[in-house]
Amino acid sequence: MSKFDPLFAEALDALSARTMRRLLRVADPDRPGWVLRDGRRLLNVSGNDYLGLSRHPALVERSTQWAARHGTGAGASRLVTGTLDLHRQVEQRLAAFKGCEAALLFASGWQANASVLPALFRAVPGEALVFTDRLNHASLHHGCMAASVRQIRFRHNDLDHLEALLDARTGQVGTRFILTESVFSMDGDRADVARLAAIARRHDAFLYLDEAHATGVLGPQGRGLGAGIQGIDCVLGTCGKALGGFGAYVAGSRLLCDYLVNSCSGFIHSTALPPPVLGAIDAALELVPQMESERAHLAGQAERLRASLHGLGIGTAGSSSQIVPAILGGAEQALAAAEALERRGVLGVAIRPPTVAAGSSRIRFALSAVHDEAAIDCLIALLPECLGAGHPVSLR
Ligand SMILES: *Cc1c(COP(=O)(O)O)cnc(C)c1O
Repeated sequence: MSKFDPLFAEALDALSARTMRRLLRVADPDRPGWVLRDGRRLLNVSGNDYLGLSRHPALVERSTQWAARHGTGAGASRLVTGTLDLHRQVEQRLAAFKGCEAALLFASGWQANASVLPALFRAVPGEALVFTDRLNHASLHHGCMAASVRQIRFRHNDLDHLEALLDARTGQVGTRFILTESVFSMDGDRADVARLAAIARRHDAFLYLDEAHATGVLGPQGRGLGAGIQGIDCVLGTCGKALGGFGAYVAGSRLLCDYLVNSCSGFIHSTALPPPVLGAIDAALELVPQMESERAHLAGQAERLRASLHGLGIGTAGSSSQIVPAILGGAEQALAAAEALERRGVLGVAIRPPTVAAGSSRIRFALSAVHDEAAIDCLIALLPECLGAGHPVSLR
C-alpha cells in the first residue's frame, strides 16, 4: 500500500476510459521467431530480434563462457573499477564495425540518448539549436527535455522542411544540431542519410544519427545506413535488437568518446555492462557482417508482407524495412486486429497513441530473418479476416 495509491488508481482509470491503459503480458521465447503466451505458441512478428541472434548458439556460448570466466556482473561503474578488458575489446569491435575511430558502450539506447544529448549540448558555446524529426524516438525527446532545449521540429523525413528551418535561422547565434533516426521505429521508413550529412555540412551542424533499427539489418554488411557516409558526427546503435543481446553504444571520434567518459551522466553514474552481455555482443559482431543471405531473406519477406497489405487497401506508411506498420486508424481497430491475430496464433502488437499519432493506430509488424516463407504465408493468409480487408474493422 502506498500513500498515493488512490492517485495512481485514478490515473490508470482515466487511461482505461480512453482505452489507453497498457498491461504487461508474458511472451516467453519458444523456438526462434515464436513465443508462448498463455500456453499457446504464437508467431512473433512484433519483436526486434531481426536476425534471430538472441537464440544463436554462438552468442549463447560466448555469453556463458564469459560469465563463467569473468562473473555475472562488472561490479562497478566504468570509471571506478568496472572497466574490464572485455569492454575495450567490444568497443574496438564496435568502432571497426561502424567505421569510426571509437565507440562507447552504454547500458541501453534509451539511457544513451537521454544522457549523451545533454552532455553534447553542454559542450558547445552559446545556445544549442536542435533540429529534430517529428517522429524521433522518445529517448531522443527525453535527452532534449533533460537539457531543457526547445526542439525545432521538422516534418517527418522532410529534409526540405529541415533546410527551410535551418535557412530561417541563418543569422542566429548558436550551435546547430540535427537529431534523427536512420530507420524509424514505428513507420519502418528510412532517412536520406547522405542528404542529411550534406545538409549538416552546409549548415555546420552536428549530425546525430540513431541507427537502433538499421544496425545489423541495413547498409553494407549490416553496418547501418550511415556506413561509408562522411559527416555523421555521432551514431547511436543498440545491441538489444538485431544484435540479439542488450545494451547500446555511441560511435564517433576518439575525442567525442573521451569527452562523454568525462561528462555524460548516464555513462559515469551507471554500472558497466556485465561479461555475459558483452560476450553476446562480441559474438554477434563476428556473425553480423556475414549474414547477407539472412538480410536478403528478411527484406524479401517484408516486401511480400507490404504488397499483401497494399492489396487489401491497407497502408504501410513509408515502410521500406523489416518494420511494416499496417495502419488501421483508431485504437479500437488496432486492438481488435491484434486480438483477431492472436486468436489465430499470431503475435502482432497494436501500437496506439501516445506512441503514434491519433488516427494512425496500427499493427506494427516487425519481421525476423528466422521467419521462413511458410510462416509469412500463414500470416499473409490471415490478414483479410484479421485486419478487416481494407474496410474499417467493425467492432462488436
Ligand atoms: C529501441 C530504441 C532505442 C532504445 O534502445 P534500448 O537499448 O532498447 O534502450 C533508442 N532509439 C530508438 C530509435 C529505438 O527504437
